[in-house]
Amino acid sequence: MLAVNGKTKVVGLIGYPVEHTFSPSMHNAAFGSIGLNMVYLPFSIKPENLSNALDGIRGLDLIGANVTIPYKEKVISCLDKLSSEAEMIGAVNTIVNNDGILKGYNTDGLGFIRSLEEDAGVTPEDKSVMILGAGGAAKAVAFQLALSGIQELTLAVRRLDEGNKLSNDIGEKTGIKTKVIGLNDVETGGKLREIDILINATPIGMSPNVEDMPPVNLKQIPDDAIVCDLIYNPAETQLLAQAKGRGLKTLNGIGMLLYQGALAFELWTGIKPPIEIMKKALKKAITCR
Ligand code: NAP
Repeated sequence: MLAVNGKTKVVGLIGYPVEHTFSPSMHNAAFGSIGLNMVYLPFSIKPENLSNALDGIRGLDLIGANVTIPYKEKVISCLDKLSSEAEMIGAVNTIVNNDGILKGYNTDGLGFIRSLEEDAGVTPEDKSVMILGAGGAAKAVAFQLALSGIQELTLAVRRLDEGNKLSNDIGEKTGIKTKVIGLNDVETGGKLREIDILINATPIGMSPNVEDMPPVNLKQIPDDAIVCDLIYNPAETQLLAQAKGRGLKTLNGIGMLLYQGALAFELWTGIKPPIEIMKKALKKAITCR
């Protein structure tokens, strides 16, 4: 990070809580490395202050902000415009302030696809995909995959009503038909034998519950499939460790976190982000936690 002075521009993170975030390390390292006089600051916003905080972006002339749990959906009513992805997904993780006009974007799903392609060398076209979970991250990734030419999508969920809601939404907006099964029926449902890409979008296995494992029998997965976990802490979840042990290709959530940030950086600055610097800062911040 450069020294803060009278010309420093500010980007914020809006969430509640925000203490867990790794984004300031990644973005401040990037700003400093290419001499951009900008600083990234976390703002812990209580629910009753959300709309004031959004007005604050306008009033303080912030460059923009990231949005995290629990405001990715709630923030939409405070914005002036939405990108097509944010509109479709119904959630925003990045805001750009253009002279007081706030536009919301969603870079989470695109971040995942970029990580899948660049880090794992796997393209989504014509693939059969199963996502575990139907929460915020699952939604962003599912919509982006549906837009990326996948052949088949199955949602394995704890609450069928949530899964069916997301499935209907994806069907209406993208034309892709999505099957919904119970998370505990994944093995008996037979679907695992047909998939190319398995994605854990639940917090099962996330620190501190690192021994937890989603109810998936990895023996049923085809040898050439890839197992992805959106969790980035730990870098290797129980799911990924077992998949690796079984000889399957794996991908953790660090790349998604990196690329959603890189895409946001580009939206705020209009310049290509220093990816390697961001990756190094992110890995260091996660390791030091
Ligand atoms: P979320 O909105 O709370 O959704 C969590 C989903 O997992 C819901 O469908 C929830 O089901 C399900 N779930 C939670 N606990 C479960 C359990 N014990 N058994 C079965 N299902 C369970 O959370 P999120 O924001 O989508 O985050 C999900 C994961 O993705 C987290 O681990 C998060 O760290 C990771 N993530 C990674 C990135 C990245 O950039 N790599 C970005 C965002 C999120 P119910 O609705 O029934 O509770």
